[in-house]
Amino acid sequence: MTDVIHLLPDSIANQIAAGEVVQRPASAVKELLENSVDAGASAITLIVKEAGKSLIQVIDNGKGMSETDARMSLERHATSKIRTAEDLFTLRTMGFRGEALASIAAVSQLDMKTRLAERELGTQVVVEGSEVKSQELVGCEPGTSITVRNLFYNIPARRNFLKSNPVELRHIIEEFFHIALSRPEIAFRFFQGDEKVYDLPPSKLGQRIVNLFGKSYQEQLAACGEQTDLVTITGYVGKPEFARKTRGEQYLFVNRRFVRSNYLHHAVMSAFEGLLAESSFPFYVLFLELDPKHIDVNMHPTKTEIKFDDERSVYAVVSAAVRLALGKHNLSPALDFNADVNLFQKLGSTAAVFARDTYLEERFSSGMHRSNLENWNKLFDRRDSESSLLDFRREELEPGALMAESVTEVLQVFDYVIASLPSGLLIARQQAAHERILFEKFLRCFKVGKGSSQQTLFPRSIHFAGNDFALISEMIPELEQLGFRLEVFGKSDVLVTGVPADLIQAGDEEQLLEHLLEQFKHNQSQLELSLHENLARSLAARGAMKPGRQLSKEEQKALIKDLLSCTTPGLTTDGRATFFIFDASKLASHFS
Ligand code: ADP
Ligand code: MG
Repeated sequence: MTDVIHLLPDSIANQIAAGEVVQRPASAVKELLENSVDAGASAITLIVKEAGKSLIQVIDNGKGMSETDARMSLERHATSKIRTAEDLFTLRTMGFRGEALASIAAVSQLDMKTRLAERELGTQVVVEGSEVKSQELVGCEPGTSITVRNLFYNIPARRNFLKSNPVELRHIIEEFFHIALSRPEIAFRFFQGDEKVYDLPPSKLGQRIVNLFGKSYQEQLAACGEQTDLVTITGYVGKPEFARKTRGEQYLFVNRRFVRSNYLHHAVMSAFEGLLAESSFPFYVLFLELDPKHIDVNMHPTKTEIKFDDERSVYAVVSAAVRLALGKHNLSPALDFNADVNLFQKLGSTAAVFARDTYLEERFSSGMHRSNLENWNKLFDRRDSESSLLDFRREELEPGALMAESVTEVLQVFDYVIASLPSGLLIARQQAAHERILFEKFLRCFKVGKGSSQQTLFPRSIHFAGNDFALISEMIPELEQLGFRLEVFGKSDVLVTGVPADLIQAGDEEQLLEHLLEQFKHNQSQLELSLHENLARSLAARGAMKPGRQLSKEEQKALIKDLLSCTTPGLTTDGRATFFIFDASKLASHFS
């Protein structure tokens, strides 16, 4: 046997890494704008053509780079922003991974001009697909101008997957909004082709919001401010009567970085409780400032996910700050955010706290086991005094085991499975519960290798149109991990010989795969998920049993047990409740 392993050339390694950082033109826009912010620019101009597909240019008046740095900036893991791992915990810059420029340069034709203010001449570097074409001294303005042409020109599959110009442009505008909102003190201009679409002078946040969203927003903003030892909150929330039917105008920044956090969104929404028309979403732009040592942003290359070491307190402060802004409650200033008892009383029912906490565990998985157990204990001790919420006497027990022995009676009514627990009645929504169970199961499949498969009665050949075929073919290894058995044959057909066990009745393979793909693409356009998470979510959503399907007693029991063995039993991946507990004491109160 000869040796077969070799190191990949940089250009290919960069291309692979680029897949994570640069998913679409908007990701390049984000990275370039963030670099200009980090460079201390006071004025930044963004120009895009054809929704960024043919051209993205970002010009700033920041500190610029020396000749050597200009060249170095295009190498992977080249950064001026951190030196040691410890620096990650004192981070004040947007960038730190040193991979954005290298990634963009790997998948485009990039032209950089940059000049230090104190030098007469600047440097121009031209790169195509990681290959440096030229580097020379040029006359240019102080600061940096980076032009990215023909993104993904060397990866046709990716280029073909880009959405229509209006869709890609919407993503770009979204990124532009995030940065423009987070830095009102910086002047921004945004051109689409020759047309100037935004010209934002340096201003205060309120003015920036009005400049971005329109004058009508002026009257609907309520200022929000709150300071504790842990976190300072500033910003604006929209008054409830202006809330929209669609999501999208909710902006949350942590240390000036835009983040997506369902958990903190929930905190804001909790303050609006009772004030909003059904399924409407209030506007908000909120800034959280806290010592970087309390947060971890290095969760994902795009850095929009964040982990707090004390997320419950952050939740409480956010919720309180928004309540105050809305003038809804006069919370006692003595509220101690660290005392759980107090908190739980303020935050509502055990079931809600429970669902939220467990949801949070998924996002903030550190210390998962311990707090998971606390949740179970809370649930069980509910019948005792409130103070038992803080009393964790139980020994380490697997949550699933604890529950399993307690589910005695089950019953299916309509789309629900009801189980009796010591603390009351657990009412689970059949489909949502199954979706959660499948999701965690599929995630495990990716961790342990191959998921169990069930042979199809007859191998089925399924035809896919161009892009879908490419997508399916690319994902075959992952689909096999989930339990599919697939073979490509011809230019647009896939032979299905197996599907994930326990998923569907025979004969539905075609629909299953099509639905999976549909959901996958939908998620891809809406959310920033890893391939694994997206696949697991999509398959769980589309593979879960339909509501109302009659289950045997054994199946009902298994559903409840499996659900309660999940790490995050309380919610589906898109945040719908899977079950709630009807408290025994509440039940009694109906008869008093
Ligand atoms: P990161 O931002 O994570 O450090 P990047 O690949 O985005 O990584 O950039 C690499 C380095 O190039 C930065 O650390 C910075 O020193 C330099 N750089 C990038 N863009 C600019 C800019 N617009 N102005 C000045 N320096 C820049
Ligand atoms: Mg950067």
